[in-house]
Amino acid sequence: MRTILHVDMNAYFASVEQASNPLLRGKPIAVGGGTGGKRTVVAACSYEAKAKGVKNAMPSWEAQKICPELIMVAGDMNKYIYTSIKIMDLLREYTPLVEVFSIDEGFMDVTDTRERFGGAVAIAKEIKKRIRERFRLTCSIGISYNKLMAKLAGEIKKPDGLTVLRPEDIPGKIKDLPVSDLCGVGGKMEKYLAAIGIKTFLDLNRYPREKLVKRFGAVYGEQLYLMGQGRDDSAVLSGQVEEEAKSMGHSYTLPRLTADLNEVKGYLLRLAEQVGRRLRRDHYKGNVVHVSLGFKDFKFWSKQKKIEDHLDDGYEIYKVAEKILDANPFGGPFRFAGVSLSNLVHNADQMSLIEQKESAKKILKSVDEINDRYGEFTVERAAIMNTVLQKKAGMVSSRAFHYGY
Ligand SMILES: [Mg+2]
Repeated sequence: MRTILHVDMNAYFASVEQASNPLLRGKPIAVGGGTGGKRTVVAACSYEAKAKGVKNAMPSWEAQKICPELIMVAGDMNKYIYTSIKIMDLLREYTPLVEVFSIDEGFMDVTDTRERFGGAVAIAKEIKKRIRERFRLTCSIGISYNKLMAKLAGEIKKPDGLTVLRPEDIPGKIKDLPVSDLCGVGGKMEKYLAAIGIKTFLDLNRYPREKLVKRFGAVYGEQLYLMGQGRDDSAVLSGQVEEEAKSMGHSYTLPRLTADLNEVKGYLLRLAEQVGRRLRRDHYKGNVVHVSLGFKDFKFWSKQKKIEDHLDDGYEIYKVAEKILDANPFGGPFRFAGVSLSNLVHNADQMSLIEQKESAKKILKSVDEINDRYGEFTVERAAIMNTVLQKKAGMVSSRAFHYGY
């Protein structure tokens, strides 16, 4: 049996704002979408605001009428995305199988790793604690034997919940939940189901398979039937694919021409060590070493060598670079030296670059969905994309964050 966790951040945008600004904590706040003024809508609101009747997608004037003390905060997508990336990275410390489901939700398959951490509940507790301490955010975690039930388990207690659903809990523990709590049952489907008397999970659980197939067709009918039985075989999609060509390197223009091969080797070693440090800092390894050399009169020569192991050790990189240097056809004197490593993989055995791009894409997709629903945020897509990309280079401004990463 598999063990799947569903981690869902509570009132995410609003909570990030409260986490990064002490003045907003414990207060009813709403993150605004749109450009301000009358057309602003509530894109997300804090639990304190929800308690006063404020709802998502409500026009801000209406929200402020219901709750006069409501504080409207301008949405800062970059901040939410950056935090989301950090949270997903934290989840990946427990398993490489992490699926970024939306900006504030992720699935984790911990089947093969749970024992290492003392079991799934221990993992969930530790994640909740670490997310609280590091980001001042709470999340609800559902634990179950598949994605469908893990996500449903997470719905049972919010905020700050931790719920386990075992096969024997189905349908008993969830019999009264509305079918719309099931992932995949959207507004329209909810109406169709209600029309044939299916409102709760138990209703669906008891509904005859043939009738569902007759009403919704072989594919959807069968799927609904399986959902009603709490069954779901879908895998946690971490998007693991081949790595993308990318490189990390350093180069140096020598202070003067030199024919001394040992001197050049000294520079190469230093450059390789710098590359190694950067690789380790960003958790990359690569297996193609590239050396470029500059000679008199702007003559350049370069060559790369693919090796078997992925490296992040500067000296190992140097040893390969040294062989390339020794094989150069010019022999010197030298004016320039560069070393780089490519064919990089992130977290070596775990996550690849494309996968990170996939995550970023998914996050962007949910940003688009939010924009479609609530009107444009002030943050442009390009700026968001840059943030996602720059994040890898460690260039994201930390000005906006008042809590330390
Ligand atoms: Mg959420």
